[in-house]
Amino acid sequence: MQMMEQKISFYTLGCRLNQSETAVVKNTFKVDGFKVVDFNQPADVVVINTCTVTENGDADTRRLVNKVNRLNPNAQIALIGCQAQVQKEKLTALPNVRWVVGNERKMDLLNVLNETKNATTPQVITPTIERKPFTIPVAGIDELHTRVNIKIQDGCDFFCTFCEIPYARGRARSRVFNDILKEAKSLIASGHKELVITGINVGTYKEENHEILDVINALEDYEGLERIRISSIEPTTIADDIITKMGTQSKLCRHLHIPLQSGDDTILKDMKRKYSVCEFSEFIEKAHQQVDDICIGTDVIVGYPGETDQQFENTYSLLKDLPIDYFHVFSYSPRYMAKTQNYTNTIDIKTIQHRSKILRDLSTRKRACFYNQLLGSIVPILFEQEKNGYWTGLTDHYARVYVKSNHNLQNQIRNVKLENIGEKGIIGSLIYVK
Ligand code: SF4
Repeated sequence: MQMMEQKISFYTLGCRLNQSETAVVKNTFKVDGFKVVDFNQPADVVVINTCTVTENGDADTRRLVNKVNRLNPNAQIALIGCQAQVQKEKLTALPNVRWVVGNERKMDLLNVLNETKNATTPQVITPTIERKPFTIPVAGIDELHTRVNIKIQDGCDFFCTFCEIPYARGRARSRVFNDILKEAKSLIASGHKELVITGINVGTYKEENHEILDVINALEDYEGLERIRISSIEPTTIADDIITKMGTQSKLCRHLHIPLQSGDDTILKDMKRKYSVCEFSEFIEKAHQQVDDICIGTDVIVGYPGETDQQFENTYSLLKDLPIDYFHVFSYSPRYMAKTQNYTNTIDIKTIQHRSKILRDLSTRKRACFYNQLLGSIVPILFEQEKNGYWTGLTDHYARVYVKSNHNLQNQIRNVKLENIGEKGIIGSLIYVK
């Protein structure tokens, strides 16, 4: 007798790590009994990989559940990941939610669904996250993208006061070194030319004698892989050897995303960040001097409890003066399990919005300045996709480039002369080798 096939779709909220995990979970469902479909198509089961990093992340889950119920009223919903781990009661109450699966079991969702398919009540599966080296069941091959994330680490031991990651994702743990290499080989064999090293606190990667630089060195030897990029990395965890490597001819992209969070020492101390403004600045200057054309991005929180006008001004001045090329600006919101949840000296929303806008505008100006410096140069672009006659891709230093071309450039690395600044990036033209 033929088994009834269940259609299943996926949606990812939040960070790059969540994206990498959804890609893996999705691939585990490419088995008899399930058919993976697009999120917009009718499905029997809809999986949402949730995020809880800000209030907006939480609200997005609710909005998406409502959307699924409107468009796909017969679907059963599985909410997995960070918000599922820390807010299970709240999520179970949402309509048509059949499974709430935390981070410890989410990669094993196929078995969870099979084990609980006859249950008549919503299933909440959020065991304590174990602290031990981990492996990943299948490769996160992603046919839709040229760049692909490779997870090497999870969790965090730093316990910054505003952050609930150590609760949502558990304590720091590293992926078994050979398991990373095994997935990398599959990803490269399937055509991915750029791997993005991903985790919560990747600089703390340690598995037996291996550190993050060993991962980078091992990946570099693989034929077919052209670029290795580090996603976000904590400022105090970047070894000098990484900067040295970036500054020499290597596959390691000249791009660092290093969260600052605040440019004021009193706030940094209250946040329990592990550096002072001076230490952060010295590191950024050093990286900028040692690596030609390096692109440095950062994250910053606006409206941390008690943030005065002067403290905000300190952050603004620091970001203006340092060679940082873009920032992601987050409006502070209290997180359920974070220490600052109990702080009463909150900043009013209008001030937060006003300060956020000031920093976003500064970021736009600084990115344009970085792009301007690149004009006139000829650089390799890894092309991703075509829209309205323009192919788009990234330089190794994370500049977005557009080229008008009738040829199929997908997943090709081609030299491009960077010519003008456009609305969304740099406009260039292909350089043909005679
Ligand atoms: S370093 Fe701090 S902000 Fe980053 S995940 Fe760890 S606790 Fe959260």
